Amino acid sequence: MKRILFLLILLSVKCPAQDLSFGRMLVDTLTSQTFWGRGYTKDGMHKAADFLAAQMKSYGLKPMNGKDFQQFYSYSVNTFPDKMDVSINGKKLTPGKDFIVSPESRGVTSLGGLVQLDSVQFVNKESRLIVKLEDKLTWSAEQSVADYTTIEIDRRRFTDLPSSFDIDIVNKFEKKFKASNICGIVPGTQHPDSFFVISAHYDHLGGMGKDTYFPGANDNASGVSLLMNLAHYYATHPQPYTMCFILFSGEEAGLVGSKYFTEHPLIPLDHIRFLINTDLAGTGVDGITVVNASEFPKEFALMQKSTTTIIY
Ligand SMILES: [Zn+2]
Repeated sequence: MKRILFLLILLSVKCPAQDLSFGRMLVDTLTSQTFWGRGYTKDGMHKAADFLAAQMKSYGLKPMNGKDFQQFYSYSVNTFPDKMDVSINGKKLTPGKDFIVSPESRGVTSLGGLVQLDSVQFVNKESRLIVKLEDKLTWSAEQSVADYTTIEIDRRRFTDLPSSFDIDIVNKFEKKFKASNICGIVPGTQHPDSFFVISAHYDHLGGMGKDTYFPGANDNASGVSLLMNLAHYYATHPQPYTMCFILFSGEEAGLVGSKYFTEHPLIPLDHIRFLINTDLAGTGVDGITVVNASEFPKEFALMQKSTTTIIY
């Protein structure tokens, strides 16, 4: 089952105009400030979960989990809900643009000098601070806190060599962050005990400090929008098999939500006939990537045969 859960597919599907605006509306909503990057601060992920569960209900889907569309669970995660002030060489940097703080970092309030370690790393031992020059900034979520702080600076935007710092960063370790997978079904007309699953993760990275959030349009508001489009359609077009629509959380923290589901399944996993996971569906100019296609050659051939794909 785990192998099936990792079957990822990037799809561009031909949609009538109204479905494109439907998808656009969902992406705009999910990436809005209200949902704060569908992460760990300002209740972003929780608000997104409530919104998506209400949407599924409004389409006419049935909850997979008794009366509740949401399957609750918890995990630990390091968060940055408050101050995110970083000045290097006396210059104030903008979070998310000039720098990111590595997700495992502890909070720290300090100032002082930096010693160069190599061509890209600068440290202050007393403050347990590492300043790194990077070609590209990529954030993620971490389930634990380190005993040091790493600031990653975009070297395209900051060309000097870092020699001094003045920083005020607050982290909050959430030992039991409450999250949920959102699970809806359209019961099958002939084989209700056999399941066709479409899944996507709806969480993203959330916010870094009070003023910066990562909207995650491509990863994975786009995949969620595609899934919800299909859920909307199949709610009024039941199929012989039961159609399941699962929105996982905790993906960015290490596939925590999908792992929890496989360990606490709401449907018998061995009754799943096929699963498609949609991720990064916002592009497609260079074609479509099907992950794990070579691991499932028979299924891949079937999909190629039965799917009409159009590259926009
Ligand atoms: Zn993703």
